[in-house]
Amino acid sequence: MNEYDSNRIFDSIKKIGYEKTENYEDANCYLLNTCHIRDKAKEKVYHEIGRVKKIFRSRKKPLVIIAGCVAQAENAEMLKREPYIDLVIGPQSYHKINDTILNFIKKKEKIEETEFDAVSKFEYLSKIKNKVSKVSSFLTIQEGCDKFCHFCVVPYTRGPEYSRPFKQILDEAKYLADNGSKEIILLGQNVNAYDNEGYRLSDLILNIEKLPEIKRVRYTTSHPKDMTEDLIEVYKTSKKLMPLVHLPVQSGSNKTLRSMNRKHTIEEYLTTFDKLKKINPKIEFSSDFIIGYPGEEDKDFKDTLNLIEKVKFINSFSFIFSPRPGTVAENLDLIDKKISIERLEKIQNILFQNQIQMNKSLENKIVDVLVENLTDDNSKAFGRSEYMTSIIFNGKKSDIGKIVKVRINESNRNTLFGEIITNLGQKVA
Ligand code: SAM
Ligand code: SF4
Repeated sequence: MNEYDSNRIFDSIKKIGYEKTENYEDANCYLLNTCHIRDKAKEKVYHEIGRVKKIFRSRKKPLVIIAGCVAQAENAEMLKREPYIDLVIGPQSYHKINDTILNFIKKKEKIEETEFDAVSKFEYLSKIKNKVSKVSSFLTIQEGCDKFCHFCVVPYTRGPEYSRPFKQILDEAKYLADNGSKEIILLGQNVNAYDNEGYRLSDLILNIEKLPEIKRVRYTTSHPKDMTEDLIEVYKTSKKLMPLVHLPVQSGSNKTLRSMNRKHTIEEYLTTFDKLKKINPKIEFSSDFIIGYPGEEDKDFKDTLNLIEKVKFINSFSFIFSPRPGTVAENLDLIDKKISIERLEKIQNILFQNQIQMNKSLENKIVDVLVENLTDDNSKAFGRSEYMTSIIFNGKKSDIGKIVKVRINESNRNTLFGEIITNLGQKVA
């Protein structure tokens, strides 16, 4: 989501004359878009500012802006602690960024903008075209969260759940399609909680896929509790929704889920899994896991391993619990760090093995690849499978934006390597 936000911030500040630069030293504005979800995020920001200070020691100081969730969480504190920072702007205030910058240039007034005003933000941004013309584009449809999982900072940094107007999203999707996007990834911290005047995520998927230019639709990140029947049903009716369901579970233990305030049980999670597999056995799952949550016992960890054994997630993120300021779990007793690390290593080994096996099973098979670009040295093409796996093959520039068939020759954990096939069975000369 920060990638989407950074691009939208840029679309906005372009209007007041800013351009992107690859060279730090050339910059007269330095904007750091931050994430607060785990670990020492705040310290990383101050460390980064230290680096910028060094670079600009003998140059004119750039305008320094901190955006994103650390800005939201720390607000005016940042201006006090680090005078090198000029503006602090939270994720629901980006519609004010141009005025804030212009005001600072004129009056040198340091400002912290951290109100939650998602409605105004999206109204403002919808008037500025989303200029990213990538083959695969993000499109934020929902922000914030009302679920208050005990470990998570999102409800405090992104604010309450907000769903963008249905039509506003369809307009942005159409604009992205007109500008070369072939895949749209619908984004939200709770993307499947999307609800605008009765329109749900399922309606968005079915409408966006009507755009002829769009070949693939994905969404992330969803909450198990919001996997409603209409969304499950879309896996039957949709022609372009990809068969990879990223459904974070965090833990396989009902006891841990309860103490995390996750609002669902493992049995309910597995019911969704069964329903989706029944609709389409090709559907695969990926997930997020938090390891070493306070109170996690060996038994709970084993439950997580059992769940992984059952679902065979093909690609997952796993993190050691990181206490976040202001959350319920912030002050709970941590479990022994050594145990957490051991458990993380164990779970990652298993998850990585699943990934390796899944990729290995594709060797000598033909997969559909949406070609995104050429590799850095222009010698090969890069694309993704239906399951989001990276594929490198002998494609060319004219393949970009197309879905091509690639025979997989080799694989490792993260990447598949292959050769393009024109007609089935016939390699390109
Ligand atoms: N809304 C999604 C859900 O409910 O599953 C998750 C979105 S959250 C922004 C992304 C992931 O960050 C979570 O799934 C969780 O695994 C991880 N995460 C959040 N807070 C964390 C914490 N305090 N420590 C470790 N991981 C955390
Ligand atoms: Fe955070 Fe997701 Fe829980 Fe919301 S539902 S509090 S975003 S983990």
